[in-house]
Amino acid sequence: MLEETKVLIIGGGPAGLTAGIYAARAKLDPILIAGPLPGGQLTGTSDIENFPGFPEPQEGMRLMENMQRQAERVGTKIILDEVKSLDLRRRPFSATVSSGDEYHARTIIFATGARPRMLGLPEEKEFLGRGLSTCAVCDGAFYRGKEVAVVGGGDSAMEEAGYLAKMCRKVTVIHRRSEFRASKIMVERVRAMPNVTWELDSVVTAIISDPARKGVAGVAVRNVGTGGEKQIPVAGVFLAIGHIPETGLVKGQVELDEEGYIAVNERQETNVPGFFAAGDCHDRRWRQAVTAAAFGCRAALEAERYLTREGIA
Ligand code: NAP
Repeated sequence: MLEETKVLIIGGGPAGLTAGIYAARAKLDPILIAGPLPGGQLTGTSDIENFPGFPEPQEGMRLMENMQRQAERVGTKIILDEVKSLDLRRRPFSATVSSGDEYHARTIIFATGARPRMLGLPEEKEFLGRGLSTCAVCDGAFYRGKEVAVVGGGDSAMEEAGYLAKMCRKVTVIHRRSEFRASKIMVERVRAMPNVTWELDSVVTAIISDPARKGVAGVAVRNVGTGGEKQIPVAGVFLAIGHIPETGLVKGQVELDEEGYIAVNERQETNVPGFFAAGDCHDRRWRQAVTAAAFGCRAALEAERYLTREGIA
């Protein structure tokens, strides 16, 4: 099936859905391909208390469901499929999804977000989903009453450690420095939890297997200051060491920086006219739900202006 649209939005997180809300209200009949993880990274977050408009903490999943319903109510057509290929050399742009359906678009708002960064240990693949996780909210319940480790020193690591400490017997935070990228308040909250211990200035050198359970028995860590090595017995390891932008689809077609983030100007324009980017796929600095939403808004407003200039809308 081939469908034509003035605005194709790729990505169903806060950036994409906000772009949908704005484009739909501008009567541009946007189509949004929500991707493999509708709702984006927030669906794996526990309580969100920094998204304005909600005095009480909101569950990430609930917030995203509401955002999606809002986008649909105002006229965004949401497709639960994944874009497999994108051709930006032809006009209109062309996107093909897993089902084989093709979309021709006069503008694209690319809002694919980012994926969790891994440590790069060879055994990670083997353990992912079997003792190794990148999402405490998704997998924490499997480790109720057990000992786990959280790797990282940012807000995500603190959030994951705090969440896990409420259900696990013990949480060890392993961080490669002794200073934290996380905000003070997040670190203080976790520091106040009696069952959290800290391995600072330390890196994970191996994940140790438990052959009997076909899972994880512990982690090997090295102190980067002293060079000392030790093993920490844990049943689960949670990685919270940042993200990598999901920009593989446009590599070679749009200007990216050295880490793969899309280069945009203050109007969310890329170097390809009509192709806009919004959210974590270009934003390495703020990466908040509210900033992603704001980028989505900007991209939709600029896409509308572009279409008007081109005489299409
Ligand atoms: P981040 O701020 O980039 O922190 C990543 C952490 O992982 C850093 O401590 C970094 O260490 C460490 N790290 C990176 N690569 C590593 C590696 N190969 N091995 C070991 N450690 C590694 O990422 P984030 O915590 O995911 O946060 C992303 C953004 O979301 C931030 O803007 C954050 O404020 C926001 N966020 C906010 C909340 C909230 O407010 N509720 C919750 C979660 C996230 P170094 O510090 O040494 O570089």
